[in-house]
Amino acid sequence: MSKSAVESAKDSSATTAAPASASAPDPSSIPAGKIASAETILGRDQVPILCYHQIRDWRPRDSKGAKDYIVPVANFREQIKMLADSGYHTILPDQLYAYLATGAPLPSKPVMLTFDDTDLDQFTIARPTLEKYGFKGVYFVMTVSLGRPNYMSKAQVKQLSDEGNVIGSHTWDHHNVKKYQGQDWVTQIDKPTKTLEEITGKDIKYFAYPFGLWNPEAIPELKKRGFVGAFVLAEKRDQQDPLYTIRRIIASGYWSPRTLHNSMVNSF
Ligand SMILES: [Zn+2]
Repeated sequence: MSKSAVESAKDSSATTAAPASASAPDPSSIPAGKIASAETILGRDQVPILCYHQIRDWRPRDSKGAKDYIVPVANFREQIKMLADSGYHTILPDQLYAYLATGAPLPSKPVMLTFDDTDLDQFTIARPTLEKYGFKGVYFVMTVSLGRPNYMSKAQVKQLSDEGNVIGSHTWDHHNVKKYQGQDWVTQIDKPTKTLEEITGKDIKYFAYPFGLWNPEAIPELKKRGFVGAFVLAEKRDQQDPLYTIRRIIASGYWSPRTLHNSMVNSF
């Protein structure tokens, strides 16, 4: 009796899921008073967020450790196909923000795909692969690399943005945020933000910490600069500021689609 009540309650909550194409409000339009407490945010189910770096076939000189960060092309395509075949819907940071901050509904089986470090294969391989399934991604750009060989150009970053993907900041040249002093905030954060805003014509609202490394001192600095969310890797979230320590896992080059799926289920 009670079991079926629980099941029907679950069914009815499932019907409130937002359509996959739902657009989310800009975080700045959400009144401060409507933003949930840290405790409430920490209590919500986490959305699986995957972090990719290079997408290319392994070379003989790639180290064992590097292969976690280098997903072979066929493997990447299989991972993304698995997500589509399993009914996942990609969401973007404003949707995640509205969900975490206000409890706004998400599409069923939400996932976020993020790409760090500006690698060219994110444009040449990931972009068309995601497009095939109607997926969108988040690209955390390190601005020092723009236009260098094997990295994306400004025009490619603009194209990704124009096509409905989100561009976020990943600093100027990947220095560890925990070591910033004075002028470093200008070099690593302020100038790259301005560059990315000029390229995309949009506000840059989200940040990914290089190496996933952060400290509590960095959070007020990011807030002061208008960032509304920041992404770490698999470690624990900050108990006061979970929106500035949103967890991701690195989708390893070693992982089959099945292993990836198991990791998503177990890590979030
Ligand atoms: Zn990085």
